[in-house]
Order: sequence, then C-alpha cells, then structure tokens
Amino acid sequence: MIQALFDLGPTSRVELARLAGVNRTTISGIVQPLIDDAFLVEIDPLPASAGGGKPARPLWFSPEARPICGVLLMPDAVHACVVTLDGRILAEHRMELPSGRGPVEPIVDVIASCVDRTLKDATRLPLGIGIAVGGMVDTDRGTIVTINLAPALDEFPLGTSLRDRFDLPVRVDHHPRALLVGDRWFGKGRGMPQFAVVYTGEVLGGALFFDGHLFRGAAGAGGELGHTFVQIDGEICRCGRRGCWDTIATLGWLRREAGRAKLPGARHMDSGRLAALVERGDAAAAHLFDRYAHNIAIGIANLQQTLAPNYYILHGDVVLGGPPLIEAIAGHVRNLVPSRPGGDIEIVAGDATDRAALLGAAGLVLSDLLQFPI
Ligand SMILES: [Zn+2]
Repeated sequence: MIQALFDLGPTSRVELARLAGVNRTTISGIVQPLIDDAFLVEIDPLPASAGGGKPARPLWFSPEARPICGVLLMPDAVHACVVTLDGRILAEHRMELPSGRGPVEPIVDVIASCVDRTLKDATRLPLGIGIAVGGMVDTDRGTIVTINLAPALDEFPLGTSLRDRFDLPVRVDHHPRALLVGDRWFGKGRGMPQFAVVYTGEVLGGALFFDGHLFRGAAGAGGELGHTFVQIDGEICRCGRRGCWDTIATLGWLRREAGRAKLPGARHMDSGRLAALVERGDAAAAHLFDRYAHNIAIGIANLQQTLAPNYYILHGDVVLGGPPLIEAIAGHVRNLVPSRPGGDIEIVAGDATDRAALLGAAGLVLSDLLQFPI
C-alpha cells in the first residue's frame, strides 16, 4: 500500500482498496495505525467527480513524520539535504570536496561535516541517510567501486563509515538510480509502468524501471550506459576502453568540439549556452547542437532497441538546452529506431539541478525501511 502511494501520489482509501482488491474496512485497518503514528495524513479533498458524490480525501505522506537525509556525492562536491516525506527540503548544504586524487580522509571529513551541518540545521532526527554516488557502487555492500574523477574514494566503504559516524541506517546507490526514484516519487515517472532515466553532464549514466522494479543488476552493476560501446575504433574513454557512449555525449566532447568550431566561450560550453548561440542565429552552433543531439540519441536508440522502455526522462546538462534540444534528441531517436506497433517513443526533460537526485536518495531509505520495492 505504501508502494501504491509512492507510485501514484496522493490516493484515496477507496482507490487503494480497489488496487489491492480488498474492501475499505481492510484498508482502513492498515491505514489508521499509520495515521495515528503521524506517518500518513489525509490531505485536502480532490474536486468531486463529474457524477457528484462525496469528494475523496486522499492519503499522503505526513510532513510531520520523521524526515530523511538525502546526499548527492559527485567527484568534486557533496550536497546534503533533509527532506520531509511529502518532499519539502528542511535544510541543505553543499560543499566542495578536496582533490579526488589526494588522500581519502579529508574527502570523507568534508562529506561527514556536510551531513552533520545539514542534520543540525534540520533539528529533526531523520529515519536514515540515502546517498547517491556519481560513480560505480556495490549496492550489496554500500561500497564505492570507483569514481573516475576521484580515485581516492575507490573501494571506500562509504555506507559503513557514515553509519558508524551518525548511528543511522545508510543506503548507497548509483546517482542515476536515485534520479529514477526521485522521478517516481515526485516527478515525471509517477505511475509509469516502465521508463528509463538518462543523465548527461560531465559523465553519463542511466537507470531502468521495469515490471514494477528499479533494475540494478548484480551488486548494482547495471545502468553503466556511459560505458556501452558506440564506436568500435572510437576515442579512448576515461574508463580506459575505447568508443564508449561517454566519449561522444558528455560535456568534455561538447567543449572540445565547440573549441574546434571556434565558438565563443568554448571552454565553459554547456547545452544552455549552446542553445543561446543557436537562438542568436550562429550556424556553427546550430550544427554542433544537432551533432550533440544525435550523439545522445545514438545511446538512447540502442537502449530502445534492446529493452524498449519507450519513455525516457533526461536529466542534467541536456535539460539546460530546453525543449529544442529534447525535441532534437527525440527526432534523432525516432529516425534511428524502425517504427513498429507499440513503438511510440516519448522523451521528456527531468531536472538540471540536484533536487531529483536528493529526493531520490531519500526515497531509497524509505523503500529500505518500509521494505517495499522501488
Ligand atoms: Zn568508458
């Protein structure tokens, strides 16, 4: 039942009873203790249906329940927040990390101090800490496998370390999977039977939701979309292999190509700045804009041909490119994938900020504590 709320958003008892195939009395028996514990709350009624009748009062997570700490760990910075179960951020801090090529202790101290300051500001003890890591993680052990831009953290048992420091349950997962959880809880993935998330920026990654479950693969090894191969003799990737999707669809590629095209501000180019140049009628920028869209589309087309999620939520830098970039990517994907029945492909913009990842990191803890699958 909690999973239904997580999936569908605020839902009435009648609807929950219908979905669970039980009567209303049974649902009330389950729900009432959760309301008494201030975990769930009845919110304002939805407008009455056209046929009239008493408006239903949907159930939703209570803002008074214990909140959750969500943390986003990227190679250069850590961002922590404390969020209520209805999605309000009570406190947050973001701190730059010391070089990822130096010793590990100073990095871990900054992570812990960022979490500590956020917890103190929130003044309410959270249920646990969920951490989204922008690198490979072993979800079984809560350990970082590798962060390409911060090798100091390779093999670091982040889950155990923070559990010991804060005496709270800790869950560690891959950044794009946290985005997916955030999308399902509060975003455009709500109620979708299946979808994929793709994040682009300094790095590229993805996550998949199928048959009512977030797909992680063995020990969380799935979703490394950035290191699927798109060019047999392509460029050397940061992972040491050749021709990964990451080499043609991240900001490193965009900045290099912007430099070759002599675009202004090439060293700091992103999709938003490129879109602004296109808007001003710069032909070279328009050409690069379309190539970038095509490069991103190639990986999505491969995913569509392999698993046909049909619905894609794109996060990160591409969102800054606005609707023209999302539409350009969608156009290329549709051209690359043969049309077929049931093959309508929809691509939508997610979040260019950290919000979806932070909420998703918190959502990971909720699914663990309440033992419902995400
Ligand atoms: Zn690679």
